Amino acid sequence: MPSSLSPEQQEIVDTHAGDLTLASFFAIVEGERQAEDLSDNDLLDFLQLANLLYRSGEPVISDDEYDFSFLNELRRRYPAHPFLGTVEPEAVAKTVELPERMLSTDKAYNFSTIQRWINRIEKAAHESQKIFSELQFRVTPKLDGFAAFDDGTRLYTRGDGRRGTDITRAMERGLQVAEGGLRGLGPGEIVVNREWFTRKLAGTFENSRNVQAALIKEKELDPLVEETLCEGKAVFYPFSLLPDWRGPWAELSADFTAIVERIWHLLEYNTDGVVLEILDEEIKERMGDTRHHHRWQIAWKQNTETVEVRLLAVVPQTSRSGRVNPVVEFPPTRLSGALIRRATAHHYAMVRDLKIGPGALIRLSRSGEVIPKIEEVLEPGEVQIPKSCPSCNGKLIWEGDWLLCTNQLHCPAQIVNSMEHFFKTLGNIDGFGPSALHKIYNGGVRTLGEIYALSEGGFQKFGFGPKQAENIVAQLQRSLREPIEDWRFLAAFGVRRMGAGNCEKLFAVCPLEDIFSLKIEQIKEIKGFSEKIGEELVDGLASIHREFDQLRALGFTLISTPLTVENEAEQGPASPISGKVIVFTGSMVQGKRDDMKKQAKALGARVGSSVSGSTDFLVCGEKVGAAKLSRAEQSGVQIISEAEYLAMIG
Ligand SMILES: [Zn+2]
Repeated sequence: MPSSLSPEQQEIVDTHAGDLTLASFFAIVEGERQAEDLSDNDLLDFLQLANLLYRSGEPVISDDEYDFSFLNELRRRYPAHPFLGTVEPEAVAKTVELPERMLSTDKAYNFSTIQRWINRIEKAAHESQKIFSELQFRVTPKLDGFAAFDDGTRLYTRGDGRRGTDITRAMERGLQVAEGGLRGLGPGEIVVNREWFTRKLAGTFENSRNVQAALIKEKELDPLVEETLCEGKAVFYPFSLLPDWRGPWAELSADFTAIVERIWHLLEYNTDGVVLEILDEEIKERMGDTRHHHRWQIAWKQNTETVEVRLLAVVPQTSRSGRVNPVVEFPPTRLSGALIRRATAHHYAMVRDLKIGPGALIRLSRSGEVIPKIEEVLEPGEVQIPKSCPSCNGKLIWEGDWLLCTNQLHCPAQIVNSMEHFFKTLGNIDGFGPSALHKIYNGGVRTLGEIYALSEGGFQKFGFGPKQAENIVAQLQRSLREPIEDWRFLAAFGVRRMGAGNCEKLFAVCPLEDIFSLKIEQIKEIKGFSEKIGEELVDGLASIHREFDQLRALGFTLISTPLTVENEAEQGPASPISGKVIVFTGSMVQGKRDDMKKQAKALGARVGSSVSGSTDFLVCGEKVGAAKLSRAEQSGVQIISEAEYLAMIG
């Protein structure tokens, strides 16, 4: 069973799923069951549910999917169905309008997301002609309770954010306002004392959420819950009464971790992070809201969200290097805001040692944009170690912790994945995703050289449409003309230990003409390389030498990496960025990106076009892709804003 919906989603699904099972619900969300295959009842239940989730600001499918697949399907079956005419489904009609809108909080799982939020505030400050450094921020604990609104006489659930349910009875039963506060303080959360829960309630209630639910239910109070209320161990905590830290961004960012840690753990109630907000009313108004959250507020959470799942299968997948990766599959589960159904178990030694197999109960975690990770195996499953390669059926051997397919030359998965890696690393050509490459492979193509030799007719023979074939041939030609760094071209061949970072380091001390004649002794002299890496590089380079020359001869336009050893010696007095590798990304506010690049070069920096292991700084403008940031973060690159960069170079 999926066990991780947000509390708001859970509330809606629990109360409004009708006869639709949770498994069916997820199968539909995941696209495993199509609108046209659903029974009338399931279709209607799903429409109601999807509509409610949409209105709560936490939709599970896109608006288009909702309209074009599901609503259209109902329209096709019953053109005059009452649901098509209702603006508000019946389930919501029993609720009452909230005195003001209650929105969710946007979440950040890494500092770069916070930095982007700060950039937007800086921009709003600029537009309001306010001085950013003087603006006050507030940091409060993020309560993990049950959202409610107190207008002074009545208490409401958050519901869909516009309309909630009247739960004033909880106050009549003895629910008090935290900190001896008065009624009528607006939005807040119903929370249960953590120590009390562990000591008195944990035996009866699975979690504190169930206690919160019990104390607002219409039915008679459980004596334990009654005692909890009498003792003041469950309270309504208005956000305005939360203890906080206040100050300017410079102070907050200078001591971010310590401030967050302190505020996070200030209360004796469950908290799952902190909330940051800007206090200036004019800027708040300028930033406004989305349908889902206030733009002037953001929650900081860190690696705290985990979920337990029961495994359905462990599927072997052969990578381009021949290593067979175990991919674990489980029922669709929501974790840190994403619906997931797969995670990777690193290698087969881990599968073997921790007994990861069908039936195993595992705990997963996921922080923000990063792929889910297995934290712990709670109950072992039935271990299945593949005997042969899932792609070519060839023999597998153990290489350390890894299972390896040794059929390097003829394994379809290795060939197709290597081709994909090549085009992905070049980064200037679209259209060569897994499905296109499989078509090409099935047509008998085995090398990149053969792909470049294909005509439009050739692509059409493999099942590409005429327009698509024309486009793809044009892209291939363009990828030859468009200048590309020599280190990137070499990295595209995917030799082990020769990722972009190492290739860049090599080319910084050795021109392309000499790369293939490098000796182990020379390589181990380079900073960051050992004798062992030297051995692997020499072998790896030899294995691709022929293909490299053949492809290069097609006419790729390579840019030579400047040899940095001499450059450094020639440079005069050092600027703060001299000798550093800087990548600019996103749209810059203060100046043109090209001008900034020129300036950086003039100050002695090397400007990269994409993040690699040797990048020192990633300077972010606005609208920076999440993938880029997470890649940079993983490679330990320092991520700074445009403003920070300008401050640094003075
Ligand atoms: Zn294979």
